[in-house]
Amino acid sequence: MEDCIFCKIARDEIPSPRLYQDDKCFVIRDINPVAPSHLLVIPYLHIADLARAAWVSEPLLGHLFAVAAQSAWREGIADSGYRLVVNQGPDSGRAVTHLHVHVLGGRRLLDQLG
Ligand code: AMP
Ligand code: ZN
Repeated sequence: MEDCIFCKIARDEIPSPRLYQDDKCFVIRDINPVAPSHLLVIPYLHIADLARAAWVSEPLLGHLFAVAAQSAWREGIADSGYRLVVNQGPDSGRAVTHLHVHVLGGRRLLDQLG
């Protein structure tokens, strides 16, 4: 059992309303949104390293992106546009060491990525 905030949400130890869930992942709103729409697509599996995730399950990574796109559509930002972000490692500023895809939209995002 991982002592990880997203694992705790996955196990319902920390309540967090789910916008969507299936057998592989779930979608919640970021607690500290940086855009009008800020969703997180989170696999149940505690994956700390993207390279390892790609090695272990490329289909899971594809699924996370498909769910991100579906969530953006349900959120009403598919046409206006959105950004998907995956942070990996210390330089990314990653706060939670459990793979997740940010879905950001609802406002004009900065031209720069960093
Ligand atoms: P990252 O910097 O990619 O690790 O992003 C982690 C994100 O998780 C941050 O945007 C946090 O605001 C968000 N976060 C942390 N705890 C929670 C929580 N309990 N519910 C929803 N989002 C959270
Ligand atoms: Zn975890």
